[in-house]
Amino acid sequence: MTRDHVDLQPLNTLRVPAMAEHFAEVTVSSQLEGLLAHARSNRWPITVLGEGSNVVLGNVLPGLVLLQRCKGISVLEEDDSRARVQVAAGENWHSFVRWCLERGYLGLENLALIPGSVGAAPIQNIGAYGVEVGEFIETVHCRLLPNGEHKVLDRGACDFGYRDSVFKRDLSDATLIESVTFQLPKAREPVTSYPTLANYLEAYDIVDPDAQQVFEAVVEIRSNRLPDPAELPNVGSFFKNPVLAEEAFTSLAAGHPGVPHYDDPVGHKIPAAWLIEQCGFKRREGAVRVHADHALVIINPEHRPAGEIVALARDIVGAVQARFGILLEQEPRRYGIFEQ
Ligand SMILES: Cc1cc2nc3c(=O)[nH]c(=O)nc-3n(C[C@H](O)[C@H](O)[C@H](O)COP(=O)(O)OP(=O)(O)OC[C@H]3O[C@@H](n4cnc5c(N)ncnc54)[C@H](O)[C@@H]3O)c2cc1C
Repeated sequence: MTRDHVDLQPLNTLRVPAMAEHFAEVTVSSQLEGLLAHARSNRWPITVLGEGSNVVLGNVLPGLVLLQRCKGISVLEEDDSRARVQVAAGENWHSFVRWCLERGYLGLENLALIPGSVGAAPIQNIGAYGVEVGEFIETVHCRLLPNGEHKVLDRGACDFGYRDSVFKRDLSDATLIESVTFQLPKAREPVTSYPTLANYLEAYDIVDPDAQQVFEAVVEIRSNRLPDPAELPNVGSFFKNPVLAEEAFTSLAAGHPGVPHYDDPVGHKIPAAWLIEQCGFKRREGAVRVHADHALVIINPEHRPAGEIVALARDIVGAVQARFGILLEQEPRRYGIFEQ
């Protein structure tokens, strides 16, 4: 039922060498009862992995690593205005976005090409180009670790925020998500206000785009801007963009006139990439380094151990804090034991 000493290097997009003490791939929910009982009786801690595109894994992950690979999409209900769709956690996110568009279920087109699984989407409330997934989530069905109790959280209980949810706070690493139910409209004005997307549409003279055109634009922009983890190992943005309240922003702007910022209801969002670039990290040398075109992305072309990535991240956080007084928060989550 479980395997020992399993290599996790192919299962994380940073391609760091990592080993699971014990490992199981979950393909049907009925396996879970036994696996959780087995972990409980052995007092193994449990780590859940999807497609490994937002984790930094240490050399060894003690206990049991569960790879969530359950598949299946069911339309629970559909009328002229919307569809309710339940999706198993192991489905690939981008394939699901495409599936929705093919059926005229709208809203997720701005989130095209985000790597990873459907089950991980609620964890950090994935977002891109002005849209966050939480808006479309009706319920999240999960099991509490390690007792296996079923729990259904509605959108309110998920408490979604910017790259944040209850799954990163009160329920941090305490659940295995089995499926997510989405409510998707069939008519919706596409969201095109995000500057990169708006500029792209303008450059190609696309006026009043439909969801399919937004999807295609997002795919094109992302393919040009972000390194493909299959070619250049990375986990996307390594840090969240800091959000400053009025007073903190005024004092930052006084010391650093011209600091870029996007204002939204939560405050002034400062591009972490700009802060990192100002501190001189956007350079090409080093086995583990900041991407030359995208300072928010740490790349690991030589498949070095996670300790080296953590060390670079620590240097970046220290430099940004010393220069700007801003504490960057890491986006990918860390698991296991780290050795340099
Ligand atoms: C090139 C690139 C671009 C990216 N762009 C974006 C972006 O634009 N916006 C964005 O929001 N993110 C982005 N990401 C981050 C990543 O794609 C998302 O966080 C994605 O949701 C991670 O999915 P995953 O299946 O790979 O999760 P993993 O990396 O396997 O896991 C991430 C976290 O979720 C937990 N988890 C995973 N599955 C489950 C489950 N079934 N039950 C409980 N917990 C689970 C894990 O324990 C871990 O804490 C990007 C990553 C890359 C590599």
